[in-house]
Amino acid sequence: MLDPWYVRNHFKCQLQMGCLSQRWQRGGNASNSCTVLSLLGAPCAFMGSLAPGHVADFVLDDFQTYQIDISLLSEHPHSSFPTSMIISNVTTGTRTILHMNRNLPDVSATDFSKVDLSQYKWIHWEGRNAEEQVKMIQQVELSNDTLPQQQRITVSVEIEKTREPLYQLFQHGDVVFVSKDVAMHFGFHSAASALKGLYHRVKKGAVLICAWAEKGADAMGPDGIVVHSDAFPPEAVVDTLGAGDTFNASVIYTLSNGGGVQEALTFGCQVAGRKCGVHGYDEIV
Ligand code: ADP
Repeated sequence: MLDPWYVRNHFKCQLQMGCLSQRWQRGGNASNSCTVLSLLGAPCAFMGSLAPGHVADFVLDDFQTYQIDISLLSEHPHSSFPTSMIISNVTTGTRTILHMNRNLPDVSATDFSKVDLSQYKWIHWEGRNAEEQVKMIQQVELSNDTLPQQQRITVSVEIEKTREPLYQLFQHGDVVFVSKDVAMHFGFHSAASALKGLYHRVKKGAVLICAWAEKGADAMGPDGIVVHSDAFPPEAVVDTLGAGDTFNASVIYTLSNGGGVQEALTFGCQVAGRKCGVHGYDEIV
């Protein structure tokens, strides 16, 4: 999983009553997906940048709690750690997010060239510094070309933000997750129509997946058939932060263990639905 990370300082508030509770949480899409993979029982590693300080100590501790391999971290002693402050209003259900990421550099293709690829069967990228990420994926493709089919690494990418440079990643994943936000930005009003309209951007044979919050998720492979799973809403929705990261991890978990696309979507929605019913991730399995 490749992604910078950050810490979330999560305040629950009621209008004019001050804060009801406060908690810290490790965040970042790939970092969250690692937590979920680990809870599902899949060994995984997180590759990202690290800046020193109290926040880093908290995050490192938390990675250890979930037995996530952090040997691929690159240290940046003169940077500061990205943080988010999230204010949840329990009366209105609104969330206000203040995000600070001043100067922590993203993982580079040079950092990535030091990775021993033989250790991995699946690598997932959250789209960020897309040009560098394409170079990293090309390193994987070169290595894959020398290997028999069953030893090749599967590449997945997530295109979550509506930023033009990220769209070059469409053609570089065996599995491509595109967000509802990006789909709507392209003018689509459902997951199925987004898949049909965006599929020409992915490489031959790829699976394109689009989650659509409480409407579940759809996927389409090279046969052009749209596969769907409904969402599995919990009794009460208490925390949707990271639902998409949970969905991605559960889909990757299923596909990397030989499951089919329908099975992966259904499992993804089941685990993401459970996540929406609890705070954090501990009770999702
Ligand atoms: P995010 O906004 O965190 O990226 P998505 O909206 O992409 O999350 O949703 C990912 C998956 O999480 C959906 O496919 C669905 O299965 C589940 N999910 C999200 N919101 C809800 C909800 N309110 N009720 C039930 N399931 C949900």
